[in-house]
Amino acid sequence: MTVILAIGGTDSSGGAGLTRDTVMAAELGATLRPVVTAVTVQTDEAVLAVHPSPPEAVADQARAALATPPAPRAVKIGMLGSAAAAEAVETALPASLPFVLDPVLKATSGGTLMAAGGFGALLRRAALITPNLAELEVLSSAGGPVEAQAAALLTHGVQAVLVKGGHGTGPWSTDLLFTADGAVTPFSAPRLAVSKRGTGCSLATAIACQLAKGASLAEACRHGKDAVHRWLRR
Ligand code: PLP
Repeated sequence: MTVILAIGGTDSSGGAGLTRDTVMAAELGATLRPVVTAVTVQTDEAVLAVHPSPPEAVADQARAALATPPAPRAVKIGMLGSAAAAEAVETALPASLPFVLDPVLKATSGGTLMAAGGFGALLRRAALITPNLAELEVLSSAGGPVEAQAAALLTHGVQAVLVKGGHGTGPWSTDLLFTADGAVTPFSAPRLAVSKRGTGCSLATAIACQLAKGASLAEACRHGKDAVHRWLRR
């Protein structure tokens, strides 16, 4: 049985967040234990309100989920909402558990879900962070080509960066995996003429499911990309 822990927010529109994570995990045959960091009031057009969970409730949920057998083998972190929630997660997660951090800053509608400086030590502890192009620019504080921005993050101790190309242009959507050994691995799928919310949530969850099944980071990124492509095609 594949079990992952998913830490993130709820989304009343149903397009993103923990609901989307749960559906993707189920599609991949995995069980998801949810930790709610915030209840968001959203439509597809706007973030109307964010009600954060108390940080101790975030840490307590994570500990209870981790203590429920069979234990999760990997973690997906989505919307954290605040630096206090990030700190609570950091203390609750054991060092042995790999986690994928989707550094969510804004919803597609433009509403803010997290302040850029709030991730703290989680950025360096993550096995993988999965920024989109906008998040990469903010987190790296570096301009210029994507390669330079990813290199800046790796220099600051981030272990691996998967830069998502879904918001780019051209016939292919290509994600680039940058690792600390200097390797750059591309993962491509044909760009589809569909616009869906929750693609970032789905990808990070699919990657965490693959890591929980024992896949390498590169295998997990390849299978994750394929899983999102299959969902978008449907
Ligand atoms: N809302 C919540 C609660 C999320 O967790 C996320 C992404 O992780 C989003 C919104 C952003 O999704 P989208 O870019 O599809 O709006």
